[in-house]
Amino acid sequence: MKSFSRSDLSLALSILAGLGLALAAAGLWLPVPGPAGWLAGAGLVIVYLAGGLPAGWRALGELWQRRVLDIDLLMVVAAIAAALVGAPFEGAVLLVLFSAAGALEDRALGRARRAIEALMSLRPETALRRSGDGGVREIPAADLVPGDVVILRPGARVPADGTVRQGSGGIDEANITGESMPVSKAPGDAVFEGTVNLDGVLDVTVTRALSDSTIARMIRLVTEAQAARAPSERFSDWFGQRYTIAVMLGAVLAFAGFCWAGHDWHGALYKAATLLVAASPCAIVISVPAAILSALSAAARGGVLFKGGGALETLARAETFAFDKTGTLTTGRARITGIASLDGDEAGFLALLGGIEAQSEHHIAAAIRREIEERGLQPVPVEDVTAFPGKGLTGRDGIGALWAGNAAFASDMGAKADDARFRPLTDAAGTVVFLGRGARILGAVSLADEPRGSAVAALAALRQSGVRRIVMMTGDRRAVALRIGAALGFRAPAIHADMLPQDKVDAVAALGAQGHVAFVGDGVNDAAALARADIGIAMGAGGSEVAVQAADVALLSEDLERLAHAHRLARRTARIIRQNLALAIGAMVVLVTGGLFFDLPLPLAVIGHEGGTVLVVLNGLRLLRDPIREPGRAAPAQPPCAPEAPAPPALPSAAPRG
Ligand code: ADP
Ligand code: MG
Repeated sequence: MKSFSRSDLSLALSILAGLGLALAAAGLWLPVPGPAGWLAGAGLVIVYLAGGLPAGWRALGELWQRRVLDIDLLMVVAAIAAALVGAPFEGAVLLVLFSAAGALEDRALGRARRAIEALMSLRPETALRRSGDGGVREIPAADLVPGDVVILRPGARVPADGTVRQGSGGIDEANITGESMPVSKAPGDAVFEGTVNLDGVLDVTVTRALSDSTIARMIRLVTEAQAARAPSERFSDWFGQRYTIAVMLGAVLAFAGFCWAGHDWHGALYKAATLLVAASPCAIVISVPAAILSALSAAARGGVLFKGGGALETLARAETFAFDKTGTLTTGRARITGIASLDGDEAGFLALLGGIEAQSEHHIAAAIRREIEERGLQPVPVEDVTAFPGKGLTGRDGIGALWAGNAAFASDMGAKADDARFRPLTDAAGTVVFLGRGARILGAVSLADEPRGSAVAALAALRQSGVRRIVMMTGDRRAVALRIGAALGFRAPAIHADMLPQDKVDAVAALGAQGHVAFVGDGVNDAAALARADIGIAMGAGGSEVAVQAADVALLSEDLERLAHAHRLARRTARIIRQNLALAIGAMVVLVTGGLFFDLPLPLAVIGHEGGTVLVVLNGLRLLRDPIREPGRAAPAQPPCAPEAPAPPALPSAAPRG
């Protein structure tokens, strides 16, 4: 059931106009005068109706309702003017080429748009839900709520975001992350709505309601994206509008001028119509959206979502990149490496820590929860949990107030974190989390996280494509920041540690004095910096909702190299827009000069004008083929939920400098 789209209609009309032109041409060649005249006349009527009427009608509607002068109107007026001065055949050629170019544009831009719209068809209609009595029922996917358990049969689409409870198998996540390799999933791993279960039978616990699943967020991002227009797009609209009016007036003036210069009114009108075609800004107006739409759609297919063309243009200008550490440069899949419980009851201590971390979205919390699950412990119920981004959490259990967080948070609570029993934890270059009641510390755990496998290559690629400065900003301890930074080739001055969310904002603002800053982050603690940066880039699928909201770009893949690809794509888009504008303006200057000072025939003006428009659109469409996911060059797909391999040592030439 395929609906008849606007691009189908414009294609049908332009074919009809083409047939009309063929008929008219046949009429001109036919040696029998009577029928020949009829044939030519009928052909011309078909061309003017199929090629001119819809555009003219639409343009008049625009003029009437929105008070904007559609450029298409110029073409229709020029064709009518040609017909009036006894050159209807040339007017017909204009209309046929004009409608063919329009159909081509509609198709091309439609293709770019469809790639994005395809996202929306990924959601399955129904889900198999386990009911309490052990049975399985098929229910509408929209009725799923967090906590439901659904069964995924091989080949089924995942009906909601969730975590695997039982079973294992490969999942194809290409349509969300752009990752072409199947990702293997085991209990505890996250799965995303709209991805395809390949081979295993999985029990999945639903974790997010349908309205805030990853794919729902993507769809929202894309719809917002379409509403937000790039500055250069707005400029070409603004310019197109003013310019169209100027061309209209110019043509009238030129007509008067040609009459005054001694042309008869036939000749003057013909020349004015030629000028009208030559000076029409169709190519200028289409040059920006053709490039931007293609790039947005190429990026979306590679798992990089831009919130509009403006984000694309800003990313192209970014000279400084600031990266959050935990969950951005590192996998965020930390492991617990040491436990020091001061009263010796390790299980009780972990159960309490797990209780307070149960409601946190932080990677640290997830690591602690995993540890507890593996040990088969039951977290202690903790209420009134409040998060202090960049520091830790407070809450209350049956006994009283509790807190968990870093050393700075401990001292905020009046506690001293320098007990000798913590030395083994604090001496290693790991993240340390303390748990305490008021001024009394109950114990601490240390956690270690590894750099992402794709991080070194991504940083090198960014540097290669002209990024001048790359820095790391983290709320974690300096020792950890230095260890991860060294593995990624950062020099010490480019590593900023112990930062509160506000410190990240201030640092981004300071960097902003020397050019556009991109901030890449994933956490709640990064949201303010993401919003403050010229361009915020959120780690989408693994990151927090707030980060995605605050950012201008969401990276749905775990592969950081996509970011470098996206940066290159953005720069290429900016280049193609410049080429397009130069081409469009150049062609127009040549044609207008020809129309004013040389006897440029109307058909030649038409061919030059429409040819330029088509060229500009095709040039923009080249971006559709810019691979954000090059299978050969991208790092091999890493299961987003399994620890990535540690990064290879950085090559000196690839190392980011401070
Ligand atoms: P990053 O900037 O590296 O992403 P954050 O700013 O989120 O790190 O966190 C900084 C530090 O604050 C962490 O290293 C940790 O010590 C502490 N912290 C933050 N959130 C929590 C939490 N939920 N539980 C315990 N400690 C936390
Ligand atoms: Mg983070």
